[in-house]
Amino acid sequence: MLNIRRFVLIPAACIAFFVTGSNGFSYSAWGAGLPEGFSERQPERERMVATQLTGWMRTTITDSAVLQAMLRVPRHLFVPPNQAALAYQDSPVPIGHGQTISQPYIVGLMTQALELKSGMKVLEIGTGSGYEAAVLAEITPEVFTIEIIRPLYEAAVARLQKLEYGSVKLLLGDGYFGWKEFAPFDRIIVTCAALHIPPPLFEQLKPGGKMVIPVGGTFETQRLLLVTKDENGGRSSKALDFVRFVPLIRGTPGSEW
Ligand code: SAH
Repeated sequence: MLNIRRFVLIPAACIAFFVTGSNGFSYSAWGAGLPEGFSERQPERERMVATQLTGWMRTTITDSAVLQAMLRVPRHLFVPPNQAALAYQDSPVPIGHGQTISQPYIVGLMTQALELKSGMKVLEIGTGSGYEAAVLAEITPEVFTIEIIRPLYEAAVARLQKLEYGSVKLLLGDGYFGWKEFAPFDRIIVTCAALHIPPPLFEQLKPGGKMVIPVGGTFETQRLLLVTKDENGGRSSKALDFVRFVPLIRGTPGSEW
């Protein structure tokens, strides 16, 4: 989940460096009454947003709902305790079973590309730690997420419950097939790389809907695509960036990976 075009420098980026913090979101500390952990490591989250998402080298994340969500979600509680020190660094972090929580910048880029609004129904494929699901849940209460590795699924269920993201609905299964029972979705986000756009996912997208998905093989640079379904069901897609994601696994859910 490496953003390999991160070093593009444009003059406007330099200006953005000086105005960081004035683009519609606040750095204020979150108050009392929140689940345990939300007030911890706030300065690191502020630094993450200021330098990795909106800093002078990274001008792409401007959506205030996304920035607010990422300021709020305690990312360090989504990684294993022995990785907690690395939770706010500018890179993916291992979460066990060969999987990783995406780099903050990539989470921001993908979430912003969804143009998610409150009340929209969003499906995520690849729950992993549950971090992206929590970011989505900060924007809309209608979040559905599917994970194929049982221990990750079970840990995410417990974590999201504990952190009061109880509105998120989780499923243990192969996300390639989507979640028919709750379809259609306004938005779909796939956080593992597929070899092609899974037809069931495109089918489960509402007309006018959007899907963000990395497409490509495991050992190659993949393209992060924004796929749009028009009102007549037609498909168009646009490449947003080059990325590296863990693969979308096919098969029966389990813990063997
Ligand atoms: N979004 C996650 C990180 C994703 S890592 C987070 O915020 O932490 C990719 C995840 O996709 C892994 O947890 C992996 O087990 C899961 N995955 C891979 N193939 C899948 C499939 N077919 N269906 C559902 N989940 C899958």
